[in-house]
Amino acid sequence: MFLFTFVEFNFYMDLIEDQYFIQGIPVLDIIKEYGTPIYVYDTQIIERQINRLKSAFHVDKLGIHFACKALNNINILKFIKSCDVGLDTVSIQEIWLGLKAGFTPDQIIYTPNCVGVDEIEMALKLGVQINVDHIETLEYIGHHYPDSKICIRINPHVMAGGNEKISVGHIDSKFGISIYQLPLVIRLVQTLKLNINGLHMHTGSDILDAGVFTLASQILFDAALKFPDLEFIDFGSGLKVPYQTDDVSTDIEEVGELLSNSFNEFCNQYGRKLKLYFEPGKYLVSESGMFFVKTNVIKQTPSTVFAGVDSGLNHLIRPMFYGSYHQILNISNPKGRPRIYNVVGYICETDTFASNRAISEIHPNDILGFKNAGAYCFSMASNYNSRFRPAEVMIHEGKHYMIRERESIEDLLKNQIEVL
Ligand SMILES: *Cc1c(COP(=O)(O)O)cnc(C)c1O
Repeated sequence: MFLFTFVEFNFYMDLIEDQYFIQGIPVLDIIKEYGTPIYVYDTQIIERQINRLKSAFHVDKLGIHFACKALNNINILKFIKSCDVGLDTVSIQEIWLGLKAGFTPDQIIYTPNCVGVDEIEMALKLGVQINVDHIETLEYIGHHYPDSKICIRINPHVMAGGNEKISVGHIDSKFGISIYQLPLVIRLVQTLKLNINGLHMHTGSDILDAGVFTLASQILFDAALKFPDLEFIDFGSGLKVPYQTDDVSTDIEEVGELLSNSFNEFCNQYGRKLKLYFEPGKYLVSESGMFFVKTNVIKQTPSTVFAGVDSGLNHLIRPMFYGSYHQILNISNPKGRPRIYNVVGYICETDTFASNRAISEIHPNDILGFKNAGAYCFSMASNYNSRFRPAEVMIHEGKHYMIRERESIEDLLKNQIEVL
């Protein structure tokens, strides 16, 4: 019983003869119009992922909230809202952004960590669903906002250690209220008459192992029996998508089958049908995004051939920050002879996107495309080296739209105050 399989790699672009297309539009036409570096998002893929997730679960009511820290362009948020998906936020600013995108407060979950009481109060006043991960915050809300509905973020202390070994530990995580503090939580809830309408867990680690996930969900169900006023149980995320051809990824159909069964069983035991929530970021948008850059130089050293591109860790930091793998394609020369490259950025740091990577022969000015560039890519971009952040384009219903223009020197100086 494993929740992972070798998933056939999803090709986001169509390769017809020597050209890549997204929704029928030649990629090189998009580049010609908007330039590089540029992020391009395909709404069809977002919709496909939402539908896949929805059809994997057989429960009375499934609620999906998109974790917008993965990708926060307002057009993407509006599109996701139109697919009947809510929003998962981790800051007051993300709440404001969600409200601007048209989400109603009841469609927004707010899961902060280590934020101050003033921010929590702002969120409570806006009427969003608050998800508390600190006992003192529970007490505070109980004293000052006795009528609000509160979800509690539990840390079940379960995590995967390697693929099969289950280690019950992770005791030093800063997230959630420890499951071992449940007796204290229950005492507070009863004394302060708190209205606990949800239980939540998000371990952050990838859901690849059925044993680990089943164990964690069982811990949450057992805890849930002690809270009589629940409306939902939220399993957070951890849904993984493939980044490489033979990558392991969450088998959502199998997760859906297993969890639906245990959830329905739990609801019988609980005596009432609750809502099942998920809050995916990566799963919904990672594959929808491509990042396109231009090759500035091919530089040969005694040991290595470098392809130096017009971008760097300022625009796409995942390879350097997490060691993430992003598949790279030569859009200008899709069928050339594969050669081995180190693809690097133009930042004055060692910003290596890929090492010893076989890519169709690259020449200066060739356009390279990075896959899986929808989640945690633009949203983590910076202006380091005083570089402008990339533009963003959305492909929707066969048309392309610029949804964020390229920055200018005015943007870099915008909040600076010249005093000399
Ligand atoms: C980041 C985050 C998510 C989304 O995680 P993914 O791995 O992108 O799916 C969900 N819930 C919370 C509370 C988060 O902080």
